[in-house]
Amino acid sequence: MKLLLKGGRVVDPAAGRDGEFDVLIDGDRVAAVGKGLPADGADVFEMTRGWIVAPGLIDIHVHLREPGQEHKETIATGTASAVAGGFTAVACMPNTDPVNDHPGITELILNRAAAAGLARVYPIGAVSIGSKGEQMSELAAQKAAGCVAFTDDGRPVASALLMRRALEYAGMLGVPIVDHCEDPSLKGDGVAHEGLVASRLGLRGIPGAAESIMVERDIALAEMTGAAYHVCHMSARQSLRAVRAAKARGMTNVTCEVAPHHFVLTDESLEQPIRYDTNVKMNPPLRESADRDAMLEGIADGTVDVIATDHAPHHADEKLVEFDRAPFGIVGLETCVPLVFDRLVHAGRIGVRRAVELLSTNPARVFRLAGGTLAEGAPADVTVLAPDAPVTIRAAALRSKSKNTPFDGWQLRGGVAATIVGGRIVYRSDR
Ligand SMILES: [Zn+2]
Repeated sequence: MKLLLKGGRVVDPAAGRDGEFDVLIDGDRVAAVGKGLPADGADVFEMTRGWIVAPGLIDIHVHLREPGQEHKETIATGTASAVAGGFTAVACMPNTDPVNDHPGITELILNRAAAAGLARVYPIGAVSIGSKGEQMSELAAQKAAGCVAFTDDGRPVASALLMRRALEYAGMLGVPIVDHCEDPSLKGDGVAHEGLVASRLGLRGIPGAAESIMVERDIALAEMTGAAYHVCHMSARQSLRAVRAAKARGMTNVTCEVAPHHFVLTDESLEQPIRYDTNVKMNPPLRESADRDAMLEGIADGTVDVIATDHAPHHADEKLVEFDRAPFGIVGLETCVPLVFDRLVHAGRIGVRRAVELLSTNPARVFRLAGGTLAEGAPADVTVLAPDAPVTIRAAALRSKSKNTPFDGWQLRGGVAATIVGGRIVYRSDR
């Protein structure tokens, strides 16, 4: 089966391509990219003027919740949400129930993902058994089963010794260690960013240093071991400074990601428009404007490698409690592209090429995944973007099983026109 994408603006930083080209897909591979390619029996998909044809977007930080918390999300609903958001692949976090610390769970996830037949799913294994931070999981067996990285996300790897061993071992296997950076003693039982807003609202604070202290520790261990190390959902300006310094002294093995809510929102959202809205309770917390601005700078100057959503579905009943008791996190797969275009591209902070780098090229590079390019022979994973489409976020209309988003009702410019995985159109916007 052949498919010809006719007449879009192909933006493929990995292949050094940006211009009007046709893309011919044969089966599950990109067969040719060029001008005026003949249809030659292929189904023709005409691109509307202004549309961007990008290598499939990859979200390397997603909580699919299955197995064990299917009332929040399943692999089927999570991957439906992914493709509606323009993501052809997601990497899923191991903090399921049970924790993914075993090849049997990795296999279960891969089987359910294949049955759903939407986005590709790359499992991330737990660094430690049960993510308890004590005994290392069988990383080699997990890699053989299909894990592409390791993390105890939801929690930090609190022991420096365990982190060192994990980096050494994962380094030999050629896969990155991803850390949710948070010093447990400094975080304490905090629920919001430590600052003026938390003080006014009487909420226990989490200082930025709770994150950056562990980023600094991890960078020291990455320097010592030479292994690939990736900072999850960075939120504090001190963390960005640490990563920037590491990169400046030539550490190419250190990478980092930022989630859209950390470059769009600040802790002011705890007061406005709704006080104590549990849909703005996340971990790491929304920080003050100096931190948000630092994330924007890092995105523009290249310090930030990846935008990842930290898609964290929770059932409405779980969020419908007082702020202190609510779980951390928001859904993010279907709001990411509109936020990136509206707040970064149209705001003049970055160009389209950089947006594609952050959402496709670099996630593929950091996790060493196939994809991230539309070069001939690459997997036929394509995201067609409509950068000028008006989008109104409607929580109730999200494909995700959970609707916990602070962006309900937001009007943004930039959306997804179609998502193609392995040569199959798995999502088309009806806009
Ligand atoms: Zn986390």
